[in-house]
Amino acid sequence: MTLKKLLLFGLSAVGLIYTMVLALNIYAVALTAADTEADLRMYAPVDDVVVVEWADLEAGTYSTCAWDGERYVIQLEAGLITTNPAVVRDALIHEWAHMLAWDDADTHDGLWGYHYAQAYSAVMEP
Ligand SMILES: [Zn+2]
Repeated sequence: MTLKKLLLFGLSAVGLIYTMVLALNIYAVALTAADTEADLRMYAPVDDVVVVEWADLEAGTYSTCAWDGERYVIQLEAGLITTNPAVVRDALIHEWAHMLAWDDADTHDGLWGYHYAQAYSAVMEP
């Protein structure tokens, strides 16, 4: 095997391994998001319809929660799919707490904190 072929083989092997690791991470994040959502729906339920979706959010925003007049919509930044699963889990819990404390939706005060603790417990100790 020539040096050129050896280098190409090495680069393609690294590329393949990188792609596999990335794919496994995306799978882990998607699974964590689905598990977190299921635990929240089961153990910290909201009376209204809740939609959770991936979206392209503005830079620096990990997640949002909004009421569209008929249902709550939680959006998770699509770029988070390649991060640590715990980041996505925590973002979903954070937004879920906003729904539970919707009257204080724009604040992170004591009521939101109480619901955050409830939602966190629902996921970590279902
Ligand atoms: Zn918030």
